[in-house]
Amino acid sequence: SKDIGRVEPDFVRSFQFENKLLPLTWVVVRIDGSHFHRFSDVHEFEKPNDEQALKLMNSCAVAVLQEFEDIHFGYGVSDEYSFVLKRESELYQRQSSKIISAIASLFTSTYVIKWGDFFPRKELKYPPSFDGRAVCYPTYKILLDYLAWRQVDCHINNQYNTCFWMLVKSGKTKTQSQDYLKGTQTREKNELLSSQFGIEYNTLPLIFRMGSSVLRSKEAVAVENGVVVSGKKLKREGEVVVDHCNIIERGFWEEHPHILS
Ligand code: ATP
Ligand code: ATP
Ligand code: MG
Ligand code: MG
Ligand code: MG
Ligand code: MG
Repeated sequence: SKDIGRVEPDFVRSFQFENKLLPLTWVVVRIDGSHFHRFSDVHEFEKPNDEQALKLMNSCAVAVLQEFEDIHFGYGVSDEYSFVLKRESELYQRQSSKIISAIASLFTSTYVIKWGDFFPRKELKYPPSFDGRAVCYPTYKILLDYLAWRQVDCHINNQYNTCFWMLVKSGKTKTQSQDYLKGTQTREKNELLSSQFGIEYNTLPLIFRMGSSVLRSKEAVAVENGVVVSGKKLKREGEVVVDHCNIIERGFWEEHPHILS
């Protein structure tokens, strides 16, 4: 209309709301695959754990840490990744929508670009997407509680899913398997795996049981395919590496104070 030239930019801008994350708190951005139940079905992920899919997630997380210096730690399981920004970060002046969208979109585009490296014989059938949220944790202790919560979740889900899919693969229906597991405790699930399927839960790959942590190495450590190993070639200090450590135990954080504290 003829009035359009008279619009005041400051007035239009005033409708944008403040979305600044609380200063001097640890910001955790957690992204999660949208409808990955379906995505994993359509792309025929191995159940309960498709290792290649997890490794693809990890390589996207490595790309995120390489891009954003202020992100000091990442923890991933299933279709989710949590990224921890250093407490003093001023990334995007701490505007949450910018931080979340920048991380989620870099993660997603990397996922698409790297798909073929991890699934050379599988076509990517439709574009995946990830949602994201940011939460501020005011103390180091609560931040570590948050990370421990995600790893506990990884453990509980993995143990349940391992039992569930073994029952399904042994001929039970999904409903029968669900009913069978209803109300069982950790020890009972371990016994079921051991007695019926000859699986010692504690010998399953660490990547399934512990999830994946992404961090910058403090010293030159031995790394192969991005994973910390003993012996072999060295990666330089500050290199982004993937590990499958126990982050529930406070000992880990005491031994690696440079990561977050
Ligand atoms: P939403 O959009 O609400 O997140 P969702 O379908 O993604 O819905 P989630 O709770 O995020 O639900 O669960 C992700 C699902 O994706 C898992 O339950 C599992 O079925 C599947 N999945 C993700 N990663 C893997 C993997 N590496 N191997 C096998 N299945 C996986
Ligand atoms: P920021 O990360 O802060 O957004 P930016 O470099 O993306 O930084 P913008 O203000 O978003 O800065 O400007 C985008 C710039 O990208 C433009 O100034 C222009 O140089 C370039 N650009 C974007 N689209 C086109 C296009 N279609 N043709 C040519 N140049 C383009
Ligand atoms: Mg979700
Ligand atoms: Mg999801
Ligand atoms: Mg999820
Ligand atoms: Mg721009």
